[in-house]
Amino acid sequence: MDSQDTSQYEARQTICELGRSLLDDDLTTGTGGNLSVRLDDDHIAISPSGVPYGEIEPSDVPVVRTDGTVVAGDGDPSTELPMHRAVYDRRPDVGGVVHTHSPYATTFASLGEPIPASHYLLAFAGTEVPVTEYETHATEELGEEAVEALGDSANATLLRNHGVLTTESSLADAYSVAQMVEYCARIHYQASVIGDPEILPDEELHRIQGKLDSYGT
Ligand code: 13P
Ligand code: ZN
Repeated sequence: MDSQDTSQYEARQTICELGRSLLDDDLTTGTGGNLSVRLDDDHIAISPSGVPYGEIEPSDVPVVRTDGTVVAGDGDPSTELPMHRAVYDRRPDVGGVVHTHSPYATTFASLGEPIPASHYLLAFAGTEVPVTEYETHATEELGEEAVEALGDSANATLLRNHGVLTTESSLADAYSVAQMVEYCARIHYQASVIGDPEILPDEELHRIQGKLDSYGT
């Protein structure tokens, strides 16, 4: 394998591994959710549609050109390919995309309520996690709403009455954002049940983002 084939194989393997983690980490149920990686300027790898995560092998993971043509992989690409493509098209900084149905964050998505920063780790996502307008799953329109909500710099949005979409420079980091969003949604829910949580101001979140940039490096 040349180095391009090796990095493509590793990206498809990461999709398999993090797909299994979605279930282990309670970020989705059944075959819900999907993950993708930008391979180069013209190609992405994306999880296959409707296949149980425990059964996906790297050779099943479709490789898709930016025009939507499948060039490799035994499975059909995720039905949310239009949403993933819209994100890569609009956000050159994004290298990985994760879509989950994680339960606490999706509770806010079903209420149509953004998740505010009652915990500092929300800074991984932005200053709050906004909510898209409702659109039917697996449509171009949902992709348009998602990129609109993400704008130029947010790393997460709630898909109304559906779930969560997260982005980062790599798939592993987009996966971490999905974990953080679910954690912050849970804390905000729990804190709201007991009392009235204080929300951190935007300038504090920007300060935290500056510190997180060098965290763990
Ligand atoms: P796929 O199995 O086609 O990726 O769809 C799952 C999903 O979450 C649709 O929104
Ligand atoms: Zn979904």
